[in-house]
Amino acid sequence: MDTKQFRRELHAHPELSFEEYRTAAFIAEQLSQLGIENYPIAKTGVLARIEGKRGNLKRCVVLRADIDALPICEMTGIEWASKVDGVMHGCGHDCHAAILYGVLKRLKENSDFEGTLFGVFQPGEECNPGGAKYVLEEEPFKDYDVVAVVGEHVDADLEVGEIGFCPGKFMASTDELHFTIKGVGGHAAMRCRIKDSVVAAADFIMRLNAFNSDDCVVSIGRVIAEGATNVIPDVTACQGTMRTFNEKLRARIKDMIVNAAKEIEYKYDVEVAVDIRHGYPCVENNIQLTYEAMLLAESRGFKVRDLEMRPTAEDFGYYTQVYPSIFYRLGVGQSSGRSHTAMFLPDEKALDVGEEYMYQLALSILNK
Ligand SMILES: [Zn+2]
Ligand SMILES: [Zn+2]
Repeated sequence: MDTKQFRRELHAHPELSFEEYRTAAFIAEQLSQLGIENYPIAKTGVLARIEGKRGNLKRCVVLRADIDALPICEMTGIEWASKVDGVMHGCGHDCHAAILYGVLKRLKENSDFEGTLFGVFQPGEECNPGGAKYVLEEEPFKDYDVVAVVGEHVDADLEVGEIGFCPGKFMASTDELHFTIKGVGGHAAMRCRIKDSVVAAADFIMRLNAFNSDDCVVSIGRVIAEGATNVIPDVTACQGTMRTFNEKLRARIKDMIVNAAKEIEYKYDVEVAVDIRHGYPCVENNIQLTYEAMLLAESRGFKVRDLEMRPTAEDFGYYTQVYPSIFYRLGVGQSSGRSHTAMFLPDEKALDVGEEYMYQLALSILNK
């Protein structure tokens, strides 16, 4: 099966995060047909391994692709569109998986390289706590010296043939914020009898707003105070998101939020319940690896684009916190549409570019 067919097969049969049973079975079967060793990982993922013919086999490179889809009704109208109602490969993970398959196929055909190559078909990128966390909890590389973990994402802001890089900090950590402020409600005109959770929430939100900077985002997108013009409710709830580009800052801001909540409790005589639900860590690209990857891309005729830091998140961050890693963006062109929409359809021409580049990159790191 070629890379394009593989992609179309996955695209037609998308599965939601942590439900990738058919997807994993299909991937495992295709790998086995090529004689590539593979094992289940993180329940609905697949771990492939190819040993090179030379060098230290304990030295390894890990290529990672995510495989999950989104709860979207596809409206692209193509013949190989999703056959599953309400589920769609709307983020391009079908392309990532197909490219990884294509790269593994080529490395299996020509395994005259140094060390060991792992391919991770990872479930659950779109859903907390992220499949990457479960992959790493199984310690699949504990007997190995991991010299690089490589991941990619399709990008409609780059044209086909372009590959985007950002050495160092690249994508943000993400945490969900849930606050419940409990006061004493009552007649809005009788302020002496109430403990006003609405005002306490407003003050709290302004304090959170002060944490915003170039390296940190704290946004509250939902405030629920179910009173009336003349009723102050007992409880006001707020929900939001917090993003940083630095794990130390992330920990510090969390402490500062807890402290701000304590001050609000004291000032307004209310109770503030703070529930911070931890999401993905920052994606921090290894600087040397990334510059080397950029030089390689340039020398092989790919168009290199410099990217800015992105305040969105990726569970690839888990790998970057443990191993030297690189995450780059593969151009699929503006005509692909916007990701996470019913019309998103990455251009198939990008598959060849993605496969060729990842293959070259894997070989260059393995044989270094
Ligand atoms: Zn996505
Ligand atoms: Zn994605």
